[in-house]
Amino acid sequence: MNRLILASALSLIAPAVMAEGFSAAAQTMLAEFAKSTGQSSLLDAGVPQAPVPVLGKKLEGKFVLVYQPGKTPQGIKWERILKEAKIYEQAVTELNAKFSLPYDLTIEARECGEANAWYHSEERKITLCYEETANTARLLKKQTKPKKNADALALGDAIHTLLHETGHALIDIFNLPAVGREEDAVDQFATLTLLKSGESGEMAAQIAAMSFFLSGKESRKKHEKLDYWDEHSFDKQRYYDILCLVYGKDPDKYADLVPKKLPQARADQCPAQYEKLDAAWDTLLAPHRKNPLASTPSAK
Ligand SMILES: [Zn+2]
Repeated sequence: MNRLILASALSLIAPAVMAEGFSAAAQTMLAEFAKSTGQSSLLDAGVPQAPVPVLGKKLEGKFVLVYQPGKTPQGIKWERILKEAKIYEQAVTELNAKFSLPYDLTIEARECGEANAWYHSEERKITLCYEETANTARLLKKQTKPKKNADALALGDAIHTLLHETGHALIDIFNLPAVGREEDAVDQFATLTLLKSGESGEMAAQIAAMSFFLSGKESRKKHEKLDYWDEHSFDKQRYYDILCLVYGKDPDKYADLVPKKLPQARADQCPAQYEKLDAAWDTLLAPHRKNPLASTPSAK
């Protein structure tokens, strides 16, 4: 599945996504994306790529993507879909254009035996499980017609997950100060990065939000106990937090999210929250960018 096919699949799905109440603006955005020649970027389009040593140090580490072969039919299927879509390759290329690392960091896609993803500091590795994307596709199928298009939509969430784990890695590797919960901070990093990456990134952020919404809904249906001890915010909180940044970046474009998907009381705070978080991440990451001028301040 190349990016153009992915774009077409996304545009087919748009009406189904909209039926669930997602913004009408996203529909226009998808149409534009589908018309594009596949050149739009999932991550920070247009960032200059000139390598400049950071603070005089020559850092030669980079993000390295590896796929482990799937073993079950499901694992084999998702290995194939992800390889064909090349979304991980694109993310890794763009991360390498932006950041210098002190050592190589492996991003490993594999079958894990569970729907999960994590960053392991000592192993210098991010693990992305095929089962995680398969589970997202399963959740999205409930809202998508035709159902097979849920697989393409799930790729938007897969990129959000990769960036979430990358956020953990950057905090660890660069020893970034984080106040508040790191899980929330890296969700913000993932969402802000997508929102600064053009229309396809904005769509991916909304797909990630929808995945959390559906996951929260399923947990409630199963009467699962809420884990108050867990370091992550609840799925539905993560849904609102992502949508808040989407709306906050461009309240005019996403006006129709309010109040049905995002209550007015929260929406009122979102433009300021977007500005604050965007500035915070820009400040923290500026010294570690290959080209400090590549920092991409928000248009808003
Ligand atoms: Zn995390």
